Amino acid sequence: MAFDAETREQLIDTVRRFVAERLRPLEAQVAEQDRVPDEIVREMADLGLFGLSIPEAFGGLGLAMEDECLVAIELGRTSPAFRSVIGTNVGIGSQGLVMFGTPEQKAKWLPKIASGEIVTSFALTEPEAGSDSAAVQTRARREGDVYVLDGAKRYITNAGKAQLFTVMARTDPDRKGAGGVSAFLVPRDLPGITVGKPEKKMGQQGAHIHDVSFDGVRVPAANRLGEEGEGFKVAMQVLDRGRLHIGAVCVGVAERLIADCVAYANERKQFGQPIAQFQLIQGMLADSKTEALAARALVLETARKRDAGESVTLEASASKYFASEMVGRVADRAVQIFGGAGYVADYGIERLYRDVRIFRIYEGTSQIQQVVIARETLKRGG
Ligand SMILES: Cc1cc2nc3c(=O)[nH]c(=O)nc-3n(C[C@H](O)[C@H](O)[C@H](O)COP(=O)(O)OP(=O)(O)OC[C@H]3O[C@@H](n4cnc5c(N)ncnc54)[C@H](O)[C@@H]3O)c2cc1C
Repeated sequence: MAFDAETREQLIDTVRRFVAERLRPLEAQVAEQDRVPDEIVREMADLGLFGLSIPEAFGGLGLAMEDECLVAIELGRTSPAFRSVIGTNVGIGSQGLVMFGTPEQKAKWLPKIASGEIVTSFALTEPEAGSDSAAVQTRARREGDVYVLDGAKRYITNAGKAQLFTVMARTDPDRKGAGGVSAFLVPRDLPGITVGKPEKKMGQQGAHIHDVSFDGVRVPAANRLGEEGEGFKVAMQVLDRGRLHIGAVCVGVAERLIADCVAYANERKQFGQPIAQFQLIQGMLADSKTEALAARALVLETARKRDAGESVTLEASASKYFASEMVGRVADRAVQIFGGAGYVADYGIERLYRDVRIFRIYEGTSQIQQVVIARETLKRGG
């Protein structure tokens, strides 16, 4: 749904205040304890954040992509670990169901996903299938009314809390690539599923990834998402959308960092004047601001095109590629502008510097985005 301008402004304003008043004061605590407090998760659910992208008919806000990106930019103004709480329900954990689910599948799961009553995960990556995601080896063997799943998934966001996984598994072992893969909705409580311990990561403490293994898991055939052999298509369409959302989060973090830099540069004095007066500092601010504006424009323009029904595979990849590389450069300049304080934990800049590094890796590395952008450009002839 496209909100009218006033409703959209109200929503953005509510999220902006929630981020400023509730989330930002907790950033250091969440990083230290590696945990987002339960009351914050409840407040996020009350605000409807788990259901941003779920159609209104199933209890969500049903936002258009542009509006979702505007909300994601606001959520980007704090530790990205907070966004990760809702990230899978809004994006990779629900959108396969929204785009390919049967009416029964949608009615069964989407209302609980939208309300945050259940958490979802998206399980594509495997130990031997990362960037080459069409190489998944997890097997799904048909036995009458069930598929039997065997295999291992790696680095699955929110798997420790998830009650529902979207799992990509090979239904046709004779077809090695994308065509042999199908997608399944796999409830956590089926026997044979093991979720590993959370990995220790470089940043985004409070957000967790786990290995997940499937050992003879009997999934009802009614839980297949889309047709047999369509699983890779499901995954790629989910990621197309996810890449725009991630691009928007990168814009939000960059805008936050620039605001922090301006405040610090005005306050910190050297050689008898605020460092903001030095043109070499101003040059860094100008570069960061220019790049953040460019990323914002690209992300929102692509979101509008998607809302208008255009195919945006190229533009979504370009958005994620440019915005994630951009926020890396902005974070690096922020450390520089803060000087020694940029390297010291108390100021929070080094934390954001570590937090943003993952944006260039997950949902397709920068190199994979380049591959997609080049392929689509060659296909389009320019
Ligand atoms: C915090 C975090 C959260 C994650 N969440 C999820 C999740 O919820 N669900 C999920 O399924 N996965 C998830 N992942 C996995 C993530 O999507 C993969 O790590 C990512 O796609 C890269 O795969 P890989 O780690 O196997 O790296 P590899 O594919 O081994 O890549 C290693 C290097 O080789 C480069 N490379 C690979 N192929 C090419 C090529 N063709 N051309 C040029 N360079 C290439 C890559 O760009 C990279 O630089 C998550 C990972 C992390 C760290």
